[in-house]
This record gives sequence, C-alpha cells and structure tokens, in this order.
Amino acid sequence: MNKPGRRPTHAIVFGISGATWDVAAPLLAAGRLPHLQRLVADGCSATMLSVRVAGDRHYRPQVGWVTAATGCLPEHHGVTTFYQTADDCRRVTVWDAFQAHGRRVGLFAWPLTWPPKPLDGFVIPCYHARNDTTWPPELASVKRIERQQHEARQGREASGSLGRREWVDLSLHLWRNGIRPSAIPALGACAGRLLLARDPASRALALRHGKLEVSAAMFLHLYKRWRPHLGTFHSFLVDNVSHRYWRYRDPARFGERVSPMQGRLASAVDDAYVRTDRVLGRLLRVAPRDAMIAVVSEHGMAPEPSSNEVGEWQYMIRGPRLSALIGLATELVDTPIARWISYRSPPGKSLPSDAVSRFRQVRVVETGLPLFNVYEHGSDEIIVKFSISKQVPRYLAGDLDALHVEYNGRRLPFCEIARRAGRQRSAMHDQRGILVLSGPDIRPGVKLPDCSLTDFAPTLLAAVGLPAPGPFDGRILDVFG
Ligand SMILES: [Zn+2]
Repeated sequence: MNKPGRRPTHAIVFGISGATWDVAAPLLAAGRLPHLQRLVADGCSATMLSVRVAGDRHYRPQVGWVTAATGCLPEHHGVTTFYQTADDCRRVTVWDAFQAHGRRVGLFAWPLTWPPKPLDGFVIPCYHARNDTTWPPELASVKRIERQQHEARQGREASGSLGRREWVDLSLHLWRNGIRPSAIPALGACAGRLLLARDPASRALALRHGKLEVSAAMFLHLYKRWRPHLGTFHSFLVDNVSHRYWRYRDPARFGERVSPMQGRLASAVDDAYVRTDRVLGRLLRVAPRDAMIAVVSEHGMAPEPSSNEVGEWQYMIRGPRLSALIGLATELVDTPIARWISYRSPPGKSLPSDAVSRFRQVRVVETGLPLFNVYEHGSDEIIVKFSISKQVPRYLAGDLDALHVEYNGRRLPFCEIARRAGRQRSAMHDQRGILVLSGPDIRPGVKLPDCSLTDFAPTLLAAVGLPAPGPFDGRILDVFG
C-alpha cells in the first residue's frame, strides 16, 4: 500500500552496468557479496528486463539508462541511438522530479547526463561526455581525472609502461584535490598490481579496478560535501570486464588455451562483482539511515561464444590521424567514446560542410567498401564508427592488420588509422538485468516477478513520496509493506 506521507526523503541509486543474477546469485549464495546480500534480505529484488529500440539487436546502455531515468520507452523519451546526448531526451527524469520538489541531487556518471544542466547539486557526466563540462563548472577537474583514466586504458594498455606514469599523475591529482583517506589503501593495491602485471590484459584490468576506486572516492567526497536527497553512482566495471574477460571464466567454451594468464584472469568477472560490492558497502556507510537504496542494472550480460565481431582483435579509430587523412586536422576535434568517435569543430567555428562526405570516401583498398559508418548528429557533431561486417568474406577471414585504406588517391596501412585494443569480446548485453530496492517502507526478503526497466522511475519516485512528473510507460512495483 502506498503511504506517500511517510516516505523517506533521501535515495541512493547504485548503478551496476551489465549486472546479471547469473553471476551475482552464485556469489550471493557463497557469501561473497555481503552488502548486496543485506539489501536483498532487507528488501525486494527482481530480474529487470531491459528494453531496446525496434530493429536494433543490442540492448544499449545509453537507451537503457534513459529508460530507467524516465520510466518511458525509447520511442517516447527520444533516445534511440548510441550517440545521442541529454539534449535529445524528451521526458522528465527522476532527478528533474526531485528538483521540482526542492530536493538536491548528485549524479555521478549516470549515462546521458551530458551536457549537464544547471541544478541544485552536482552532475559528473559519464564516459559518453564530449568534453569535461560538469555542474557546477568548478568540478571539471573531477571529470578530467575520469577522462584521463579512460584515455590511459584506451591508448596505453597495449604498452603498459605509460599507464603506470598516468597512474602516478592521477594519484597526485587526487591528493591535491583532497580525495585521500578512504581511497588510499585501495588505490595503493591497484597501483601495486599495475606494477606487477605481466601481460596487457592484466594491466588493463588493474587500470579498470583503479577507475572504480577513484570514481568511488570522488563520489563519496562529493556526496559528503553536498548531502544530496538523490545520490546516484554508476560503475561500468562489471560491463567492461564481462565483455572482455568472460572467455577466461569459461575457457573451454571459447577454445581458450589453458595458460598461466588464463588462470590469472579466470576470476576477473566474479572479482568485478566483489569489488563493486565493496564500493556499495562504502556508500551504504555514508547514506542516511532511512534512505531508499536501489541497486540496478540497465541490462544483463551473457556469453557470446560466436562473436558478431570480426577477427581476433578489437580496433579503435585513431581520431587525429583520421582527420589528418581527410585533410581536416585543424578543423575537427575528436572525442573517442567506447569504440566510436565524436568529431566536433573547435570553439567558435562550424563544421566543414563536406566533412561527412570526406569520411564516407575513406575506403578499404582490398574490398572497395567504405571503412566507416558516418552519422550526422544535429549540426555540430559527426559520429564515425567502423563498418567492418562479417558478411564480407575478406573481413571474415581476419588479419585486418594487413588491410589498406585509401582516401583521395592516398593509400596507407589500416593500422595507421586503427589501433589494436584487445581481444574480441566474449560476452554481450542481455535482456535480464537486476533490481534490488531496500528502505523503511519496502517489504523485506521479497523476490518479485520479472519487471521492466520502465518500472524503475515510477517505483523510485513513489518510494520517496514524490508524485509522477508526467506519463510513464512503467508501473509502480508491488514493493511497499
Ligand atoms: Zn557493454
């Protein structure tokens, strides 16, 4: 029964991108996720089914997290592609609803919060952001730290040595920003593992663990300073590690040969959940005693033994080299995001009118096909993504390193504009995400039937006594005692 007058005023949303009960349930049973275990015992839990855009085979985090924030389906909130931004969202979010009732919010890495709008509280956008803008603007150094870490992983995990220097820089930066006490032991452990890592995969993993620790330290620092009524923290460790390291968890299924490295990485996915649970524990210690706590994933994760990706390796686009190839080195600013690139013009300038057609003219010599899918996003952004399909026999044969690209009569090796980033993925997004809700009015120890991601926003707002700010596609779940 809904008794809005008695609802708590504070809520914490802990987003674990890519979390699935398939991994979490055995870990809970083994007592390895004690903080999540307590919330499950004290509250309601469910498998939360993700949503995807009609015609899209993927459950996308950008679409999913906006659905969670608005309680609406993609066709209603308007975010239907991987490269959209907060400006494209047409529906009211849960943080808008908090603000409308005079409640402060603090958002840390909730996807699609860039560009951040002025509000009472703070907004640190996630890795989809096109620059370091935060709200308030003086928190840009926090975003800069996050971006440096992203770049450290993207650009340097193949070599490793520069990653260590980056790590020292980051630690100093954190120290100067007053983010010390809670983070130091965990950061020290990550730095030690980075130094000891013997292969690129182990180094990449140590950097990802470091990112979780740094993000958690920064969020706790901001949370204690602002005390928001709605505090949200998102981690992408589970999603990242699942994509990349599931093969080591289940080596026989992937034909992975048994080696010392495979042995070292066999527990990487489970370990990502355990580390994330520890961060959850730190958040619970600073949360108000009567706060609503929600743990949520926007989609689950499942092994992908027959990958849709081509070849043995993943490739990243070398943004500056590509803009130089098409003769626009000084007219375009690149922002690498996941495995695609956003190109914008420098401040005060507009995009060259023929930039899109120039990107589209870049072809693979061996196949004669365009190398990129190119999208125009509004009038100020071009999105560039590899177009390397398994349907093309030459690509299916692998060895993409040996290809050549051509633009306007100029030829160069594929690897001049593409960089190996790591092994082909071994898990992909799955419909079945997780939901756990715990708070003063929430029924304890209840396993709910499967629900929809669209149910999250209406249920969260009801749980803190706020009225629906607009129409929802979801419903209020039966969680109240
Ligand atoms: Zn993912």
